[in-house]
Amino acid sequence: MIQSPLLPHTAGYIAGRWTGAQSGKTLAVINPATGEKLADVPSMGAAETTQAVEAAAGAFADPPAIELRRAWLKAIGARMLEHKRELGRIITLEQGKPLAEGVTEAEYAAGFFAYFADQLHHLEAQVLPQMIRNCRWTVHHRPAGVAATITPWNFPLAMMAKKIAPALGAGCTIVTKPASQTPLSAIAFWTIAEAVGVPAGRMNLIIGSAGPVSDVLCSHPAVRIISFTGSTEVGSILMNKAAPHIKRLALELGGNAPFLVFDDASIDAAADGLLANKFRAAGQTCVCTNRVYVQQSIAATFTDAVAERVRKLKVGNGLEEGIHLGPLIDRDGWDKVHAHVTDAIERGARRIVGDDPPRPRPRSDWGAFYSPTVLANVTPDMRVCREETFGPVVAISTFTDEADAVRQANSTQYGLAAYLYTADRARAERVTAQLQFGHVGVNTGTGPTSEAPFGGFKQSGFGREGGIEGLLEFCEPQAVAMG
Ligand code: NAP
Repeated sequence: MIQSPLLPHTAGYIAGRWTGAQSGKTLAVINPATGEKLADVPSMGAAETTQAVEAAAGAFADPPAIELRRAWLKAIGARMLEHKRELGRIITLEQGKPLAEGVTEAEYAAGFFAYFADQLHHLEAQVLPQMIRNCRWTVHHRPAGVAATITPWNFPLAMMAKKIAPALGAGCTIVTKPASQTPLSAIAFWTIAEAVGVPAGRMNLIIGSAGPVSDVLCSHPAVRIISFTGSTEVGSILMNKAAPHIKRLALELGGNAPFLVFDDASIDAAADGLLANKFRAAGQTCVCTNRVYVQQSIAATFTDAVAERVRKLKVGNGLEEGIHLGPLIDRDGWDKVHAHVTDAIERGARRIVGDDPPRPRPRSDWGAFYSPTVLANVTPDMRVCREETFGPVVAISTFTDEADAVRQANSTQYGLAAYLYTADRARAERVTAQLQFGHVGVNTGTGPTSEAPFGGFKQSGFGREGGIEGLLEFCEPQAVAMG
């Protein structure tokens, strides 16, 4: 079982108290690398969620001044940095990613608190310069109300931080439900928030069954905004559940990122950028490249450069030295990745790197290690092109010219992230303007940052996280005409 100074409790948190499930039911949290049980956490349902929403609604009635909210954000961010190694260790233990990535995630998550602490002046009331209809007009940014957040397992701390920092800064009160596979990062974060002295009821943590919890979050009249990160399928379920109650939604959903390499690009820089982007969290990130498109004349050279790098990657327990990739989150994840690889090979793709047969299918929901794989001759009919693979597979296709590159990149229902490598600045600007994606990396595989708005086009969702847009997501603008 896990021992950590950040986990003196393994429970939910409602109205300022660490709380178990009324039913006494628990969920086991398993280390996906070893199968070790890390903790039993409460499996809460509708009753506890209602209590949490009511606690949040009660706390909302007592709005804190902006200076106090700024102080909370600064203090939480600072404490997260102080504890970044321990937070990183908890992330690695429950999620599986290498320890260095866990620590980087903790730093990234802390960055949202530091950034939004410095942006709260944007919420100050603005007086319009002109008198209109003999009135003085002021625009206020009021906190939206109780904010519900639901987050996935791939970045158990960062995905939560992106929502909680702006919500708390905006003056909302919060009910959070983390993924059932990775609740310990959330509990550790709550230990930090409690120590900072955020008042009871302002931040509540529910762990448990997604269906009953989200039924309450989508229907309770006090919840004004639901901020969700996860799959497009679940995003659609939440839209349906929330529709009769006209809730505001911010949906950060799935991706299918293209990575374009033009014939004037530096092959080494593109291959390095692809590796750094593709294999983070073993390929289980929404901004991971899913489809690589290389201009025909350099396809063989680029594929060799990628293959040479991928062969050096080491897979294993993320707590061990020198590991580049941990396990996939569970057996379903492994099955999906393997089904995509098998489908591609049956349809004519060539496996350049990757074990054949692959590492054995896990017998249980742990140990789902998948060998890094490179596929060439990939075509649009293959599942690796049409769906989000969420695993360590580089699927390489070719394009003829700029128009063909843009057409293939956009040929997806998703619109989250895209990347392109070219030495021609004019081309980079032309192509970027045509890419229907919310985040575009030019000559870099880097993903989002707290300072810039991040979110999807098309079925990758709507709403933004990070940037001023991410703060305003949790506010209701109110126009006041003073006669
Ligand atoms: P998921 O299955 O959609 O789960 C995400 C969250 O939703 C979890 O907390 C889960 O709870 C909950 N959930 C599951 N079924 C639900 C339902 N019927 N009603 C309400 N909530 C429900 O996604 P995932 O497999 O954890 O994460 C991977 C997906 O997230 C990928 O598609 C990835 O691209 C996407 N993602 C997007 C972004 C972005 O910023 N756009 C970032 C990261 C990940 P339980 O764990 O209790 O089931």
